[in-house]
Amino acid sequence: MIVTDGHQLRLYNSLGRQMEDFVPSADPSGMYSCGPTVYAYPHLGNMRAYVFADTVRRALRWKDIRVRHVVNITDVGHAVADTDTGEDKVEAAAARERRSVQQIAEFYTRAFFDDIEALNILPAAEYPRASAYVGQMIEFAATLEEKGYTYRLPSGLYFDTARDPRYGELAQLHAEGQREAARLEQVPGRRRKTDFALWRTEQPGRRRVLRWDSPWGWGAPGWHLECSVMSIALLGPHFDIHTGGVDHRELHHINEIAQSEAYLGDGRPWVRFWLHNEFLQLGAAKMAKSAGGAPRLADLTSAGYHPMAFRLFLLGGHYRSQLDFTIEAMDAAQAALRRLAVRIQPLRPLPAADTLAAATGLMAGPAAAGPAGQHDSAAARALDLMDAAIAADLNTPKILAVLQDALRDPAITPDGLRTVTAAADALLGLSLATLDPDLEQRRSAEELAPEELHAIEQLVAERTQARKERDWTRADLIRAQLEQQGVEVTDTPEGPVWQLRG
Ligand SMILES: [Zn+2]
Repeated sequence: MIVTDGHQLRLYNSLGRQMEDFVPSADPSGMYSCGPTVYAYPHLGNMRAYVFADTVRRALRWKDIRVRHVVNITDVGHAVADTDTGEDKVEAAAARERRSVQQIAEFYTRAFFDDIEALNILPAAEYPRASAYVGQMIEFAATLEEKGYTYRLPSGLYFDTARDPRYGELAQLHAEGQREAARLEQVPGRRRKTDFALWRTEQPGRRRVLRWDSPWGWGAPGWHLECSVMSIALLGPHFDIHTGGVDHRELHHINEIAQSEAYLGDGRPWVRFWLHNEFLQLGAAKMAKSAGGAPRLADLTSAGYHPMAFRLFLLGGHYRSQLDFTIEAMDAAQAALRRLAVRIQPLRPLPAADTLAAATGLMAGPAAAGPAGQHDSAAARALDLMDAAIAADLNTPKILAVLQDALRDPAITPDGLRTVTAAADALLGLSLATLDPDLEQRRSAEELAPEELHAIEQLVAERTQARKERDWTRADLIRAQLEQQGVEVTDTPEGPVWQLRG
């Protein structure tokens, strides 16, 4: 049998900044990814984090490691500009869009799931909503208070980072020199810049929309609290992997670690592996959602790009490298995806090869025997190269290169090539088994029949009128009706604009 033992999976752990063998501590292995804040559409930079987490999932599956993955939905608690005392982002969006906070959260949560699905991201086991865990967050903060890790101010309950001698270890920064913390606003009475709010107490005369009673008065949880509370609630006190964008490494994850280890108090590291993806750069600027105007997946699909072309573009770079998003790069990715689909179409149907064991099993079977009854050594070599690549800290560019080489290799048998392609597809998640080489272009407004166009324009006009009359319910109903028809309306200072969804 041609079965390799496989290469040991090694991942770059931000905690200690080094490559380490990944061996799960439990079955299933616990994995938590910081999820979206649902007050706006996720942009392309946000989605890189979820494609990255999905690559981790696929690598674990490949190695027959079962995983329980949790991704939170931040529908409360994330203040504007990451500050402790600012306005809640979801509430600010609700005021701006004249919808209820629940409507805002629900709408953008759905938009997030649409993108997750379009990008062929494996669903998590759980997507807990922060708003459903506020009671547990209060208990968590109360425990920290009992243990003496906190102090009270009129603006809320604060975590005292001076009590944690290892504070900031993940960021490899000394507590007083925190870069990220330095940009936070001044909080009267706060002892250190790094101290952060566990509870944000409502200020007199500034009643929040989403508010809970607590031992520290009416208010809302600080935004770091939810990840600690929900991950521990759903994965147990300790788990194997925590993922997020590299920006979280500098502040959010430091605070998660500080409060969780203080809460658990067992002297053990809370989470073993901290994995962070680099930014997607749009021009020179970080694609931060707060900056506004950052492109999202629907912008790409409406321009005729296939979602898998964006995924291919992302996987063409290593997750720890910054990537420059350009239209030229998207064009190249779309062309590469089309070439792959054209080349792979005659090989269909592809076998199931989600795991190294399954793929090597296919190689060892009778189907792998070549004309001379020999095993397909070219395919076996390609599989081994792919296994080595995924094991070496998720080297997706290398897997793509191995696949492309295999597709050009005359020595490989058709069945061997099917197995190699299926294995690459399982690791990369590009839907190569089913992708239409035409990459089905999205309909543009120009392709609509005149009566369709007229009906849409009329509904948009009716909605504008309803808004003018401050009839928000009716305006929302019309928006929902338009969405049913695949039409998305965006309100701009110049009036509403609409486009067809992909
Ligand atoms: Zn988090």
